Amino acid sequence: MQSVIVHYQEIALKGRNRSWFVERLVSNIRAATADLGVAKVRALMGRIELQHESADDWSELRARLARLPGIANFSRAVRSRWDIDAIADTVLGELEELQVESFRVRAQRADKRFPMTSPQIEREVGGRIKAARGWRVDLERPELTVRVEILNDEAFCHLRKEPGSGGLPSGVSGRVACLMSGGIDSPVAAYRLIKRGCRVRLIHFHSYPILSHTSQDKVAEIAELLTRRQLDTRLYLVAFGEIQRKVVLAVPPPLRVVVYRRLMLRIAERIGRACGAMALVTGEAVGQVASQTLENMAVINSVTSMPVLRPLVGMDKEEIVREAQQLGTYEVSIVPDEDCCTLFTPKHPATKARARVVDEAEAALEVDAIVEEAATTAERRDLRFPSIVAQPDKRSGTSG
Ligand code: ATP
Ligand code: MG
Repeated sequence: MQSVIVHYQEIALKGRNRSWFVERLVSNIRAATADLGVAKVRALMGRIELQHESADDWSELRARLARLPGIANFSRAVRSRWDIDAIADTVLGELEELQVESFRVRAQRADKRFPMTSPQIEREVGGRIKAARGWRVDLERPELTVRVEILNDEAFCHLRKEPGSGGLPSGVSGRVACLMSGGIDSPVAAYRLIKRGCRVRLIHFHSYPILSHTSQDKVAEIAELLTRRQLDTRLYLVAFGEIQRKVVLAVPPPLRVVVYRRLMLRIAERIGRACGAMALVTGEAVGQVASQTLENMAVINSVTSMPVLRPLVGMDKEEIVREAQQLGTYEVSIVPDEDCCTLFTPKHPATKARARVVDEAEAALEVDAIVEEAATTAERRDLRFPSIVAQPDKRSGTSG
């Protein structure tokens, strides 16, 4: 049996909620690794131990843990008896096939009853390594750091820390609904909230069959990538083409983009409330495109009483692109596609829409009926990781 020791950071600070946060992380790790021969995942004195059967799946296991929100770092570790001789022997066994110039030992006692202090353990184990291997001790810039963690009736030794993705475990912060366009920004916005422990529902507006279903395919692929991080995702696909036709008949060209956005936000609010979301999320950034002025944002925002979170609001496009590349969504986002908001859209949208003028233009539309119809006929898909189970064509609208 092999062990992996998982460290969390931020969740260690959460006071009375702590055990609940840790349990959530434990169950997320269990779910994310369910098909990889993992025998046991348990919380253990401020860290989590994962026991698995073979080393074969390590690269896959490592990739999955690295994606999971709430993990600061993790390491493959070997267990040792609660005894300094056993610990030193275990460490020397682990080092057998290694050759380095310099090293240091870092010890940590979660259980202070251990008869030696951490510096004493470091000196003792370090001395034996030096004697056995002749390596130089370097406390500042060692080639290798040997870590020893003393728990209450066992110890763990490990040699390499893998970085986790940080943040909070998925599911501890409640639900939000993200307006997902399939462009570069909204997947990054959704991930920002996933990383803060939110379960993020995705809502996509498409103009199929007036336009191709490329945008839906892209969003489905992005949803899969995000599901590898939050483990389950609900995606709503809302038919928006007919709504746009109605807008075209009723609304002067310069105001159309703002009206589309207001309708999207109202429909998203309606779906979001029905699925328990406490806020909406968009990928907007101030001034990124002509329609994303503060004036327009205010006029768009005013149709909903739900908080609208814009995690990218102050970011440059290059910064967002870099994040999308790290996240792995960039390649999907740049696949050419006809955005539904360019449909029936004039070359020069209003950059400073005024609320009163937009309200008057919308008076010609049956807004409530449009919102109700769009929300209740939305197609819902549920995705899960590891086994991604899509349930297309489930016309259950907004329930759950
Ligand atoms: P993105 O890269 O996310 O498409 P963008 O820079 O293209 O963003 P806009 O097209 O102006 O920006 O859209 C701003 C935000 O409005 C998006 O980030 C997204 O949250 C929402 N949005 C736009 N179009 C759609 C759509 N078809 N379906 C769902 N949400 C959308
Ligand atoms: Mg877009």
